[in-house]
Amino acid sequence: MSKSVTDQCVDNNAKYAGGEAVHDPKYPGGQPIRPAKHVAVVACMDARLDVEDLLGLQTGEAHIIRNAGGVVNEDVIRSLIISHHLLDTNEVILVHHTRCGMLAFTDDLLKAGLEGDPAAEKLLGQATGRAFTSCKTSSTEPAAFHAFRGPLSALDAPHDEKSNERLEWDVRRGMAAILSHPWLPSEGPDKMTVRGFIYDVDTGKIGEVSYPGPMGSIG
Ligand SMILES: [Zn+2]
Repeated sequence: MSKSVTDQCVDNNAKYAGGEAVHDPKYPGGQPIRPAKHVAVVACMDARLDVEDLLGLQTGEAHIIRNAGGVVNEDVIRSLIISHHLLDTNEVILVHHTRCGMLAFTDDLLKAGLEGDPAAEKLLGQATGRAFTSCKTSSTEPAAFHAFRGPLSALDAPHDEKSNERLEWDVRRGMAAILSHPWLPSEGPDKMTVRGFIYDVDTGKIGEVSYPGPMGSIG
């Protein structure tokens, strides 16, 4: 059996982490609209992730969908439905990463800070090393920030077992959201596959997240 594109990306990543350039940044000339590798990547917006480089993807080969956390939210589902049904992608790669900012706050804390809670303002200032300036008003949007569940760690704290667990839970949540969506088929002739990874910003390596797997306990 030939290797999946996801497996090829895993191989490319090993080369990237070893210092090899696996993405060619030169303008390749005209390309078709459909991603040549039939793959869509959902990744965090973190400044330390060069998604095409770390997976060895070339211009024209993949859809790259990014947001804070690489969270599979309503808008990512929207993009994936378009990517699959109209533009012929059939593999999805989710990429979360170590030291993610989404480990360092909660939705309630950020909302309280934005609305004007002085204690929240102070905590967010301490956590980010930036003077947090409240907007002193409330808003219904966004409905959620999707900060990762679990006990908070400091911003950019070194990777540890607990934050690894929290990242894994969110990767699994994203995989579940894709696999259970009625318009993203995971069976049948038009099926899509989904695999999830955690990228280590210190080593450049990706590690696969098992699915299904533990989703944690509040205890
Ligand atoms: Zn991140």
